[in-house]
Amino acid sequence: MLSRHLGKWEFRPDQLEMAREVEAAIDEQRHLIVEAGTGTGKTLAYLVPLIAAGRRAVISTGTKNLQEQLFQKDIPFLERALGRKLRVAYMKGRANFLCREKLYAAEKRPVLEGLEEVTDFSVIQEWEPETETGDRAELRRLPADSSLWPKLDARRELCSGQKCEQFDRCFITQMHRRAREADIVIVNHHLFFADLALKENDFGAILPQHQVVVFDEAHEIENVAGQHFGVQISNYRFEELARDIQAVAAREGFGSAELDRAVNALRIRSEEFFALFDEVQDRRGFRDREQFIRKHERECSGLSAALQALGGRLKLVRERTDEILPLENRVVELTGALQTILEGDDAVFVYWVERRGRGVFLQATPIDVAEILAERLFAAVDSVVLTSATLAVNEGFEFMRTRLGLDAPRELLAPGHFDYRGQALFYVPEHLPDPRDPQFAARAAAEAARLLACSRGRAFVLFTSYRQMHIFHRQISFSLEFPCLLQGQAPHSALLEEFRETPHSVLFATASFWQGVDVPGESLSAVIIDKLPFAVPSDPIVDARIRKIRQDGGKPFAEYQIPSAVLALKQGFGRLIRSAADRGLLALLDKRILKQAYGKIFFDSLPDYTFTTCLQDVEEFFES
Ligand code: SF4
Repeated sequence: MLSRHLGKWEFRPDQLEMAREVEAAIDEQRHLIVEAGTGTGKTLAYLVPLIAAGRRAVISTGTKNLQEQLFQKDIPFLERALGRKLRVAYMKGRANFLCREKLYAAEKRPVLEGLEEVTDFSVIQEWEPETETGDRAELRRLPADSSLWPKLDARRELCSGQKCEQFDRCFITQMHRRAREADIVIVNHHLFFADLALKENDFGAILPQHQVVVFDEAHEIENVAGQHFGVQISNYRFEELARDIQAVAAREGFGSAELDRAVNALRIRSEEFFALFDEVQDRRGFRDREQFIRKHERECSGLSAALQALGGRLKLVRERTDEILPLENRVVELTGALQTILEGDDAVFVYWVERRGRGVFLQATPIDVAEILAERLFAAVDSVVLTSATLAVNEGFEFMRTRLGLDAPRELLAPGHFDYRGQALFYVPEHLPDPRDPQFAARAAAEAARLLACSRGRAFVLFTSYRQMHIFHRQISFSLEFPCLLQGQAPHSALLEEFRETPHSVLFATASFWQGVDVPGESLSAVIIDKLPFAVPSDPIVDARIRKIRQDGGKPFAEYQIPSAVLALKQGFGRLIRSAADRGLLALLDKRILKQAYGKIFFDSLPDYTFTTCLQDVEEFFES
């Protein structure tokens, strides 16, 4: 059927095998884990048996690109091939949608600041009666950074739910209705786990009941699940609460001098509290909390008291409009979260703090999500299908199964459709010093420059740390005759765009470019990686996981650090060969892969690339 409808159809045995596995898993109500190498055609391999089974399924993806590919390309293609309409809903986070109630309220009582907001307002006003979905992605004329949109979006925090006059016409209600009527619901991992965590709190589910879940890009779910089953507070959450209370009070007419004083006190106390973390760079553990509270008693109890006073003030508002209860709930939620972060003594959590730009985030994250997922996901859904190009270590799934709490699933390794031996050369320079040697950075950077001369730029140089990235960039970027881009110079998507559009460019980057980045064709002809990407204990979550494995009598290096490094390396190298026509060099500047016993696990886990330690082979590869 597919061959009749797809002009460039190629028969792929792996794709068929994967489809049969998905079909069997659904039939037998079992779970399935599939590593599907790039080029397997995995989306059709799970969509076809899902549709044939006729059971309600949720497909959860790691990236927006994949969600859009499913909804706009793969599903319409299958509809044409099958000759029938499929009932598919695409669900997104609430902040993507317009809140009609807020828009109408703003028409009566303007909330606009500046000329740009006035223009944006009329764009949204014109669009509202026409749009069927209320999804801002339709609004191409609205600037991406519009300051008006956050005042009018449908975030849960300011929604009065069924009490709202617009509830039946609300775009969120309609999205939920479409999802209830659909056979397939497409979401992203964040929405999926937010839903699972909400169900846990019995606070109202987002997703309709379903019997099958497919996680595409499933290698990401441990971290995403951790975020949603934990607790987080940030200076932004306090600022937003203060702003929303004042905006609602102005709109609903319950503002008062006392309320203003309580809101301002919260702002001041929040600033004082979060300023205590001024010296934090990136991420670090938040371990000695008892001592912290003793030392900063005034700031900690001050913030807590300001929240309580504000909650009390809201209770005194006489005109009980529908908007007040959600605000009160937020005060209660934040009070509980602050208390958990400061005083929680649950050993299953790791407590940590992170700075991102102006934001300070304090978090309690479960060290291990395996038990949570075993109970809330794998025991609750008939069939869960996990798929990605990187799930297997040493040709097995034990690591993933243990991390995720998945017991005895069906398993399949589908290596993919590419001729890796013919398409990629894997080079390890044996003559470089060990990465722990002080000479390493200078010598490895010079080697990277030689490789970039062979590939004529057109490369990602990927690093395991920012520090190393800057050292390499400083040392070689001025002498390279190719345009050099550096992570941090511009937003992620802008850098990638520039890389695609600038011939022979070289991008120096760290972790966020190791996965989900797709540059097919000649613009990317080499991926150079500085070191084996071992997770380091300086990261608080990694540190907590390592300690836990050790406490439980395990060996963290063998059981956690090596397997996660294998998967990260596969991800990084996976950037190179994205189509059957791609060809290029993979270079790892870390000779430990040759010298240490664990190196074999890396080799056995990677695709069957042609391997060399000889620079001349690299030169000849690019000359041929
Ligand atoms: S139900 Fe909530 S999101 Fe929908 S229009 Fe009303 S307030 Fe806005």
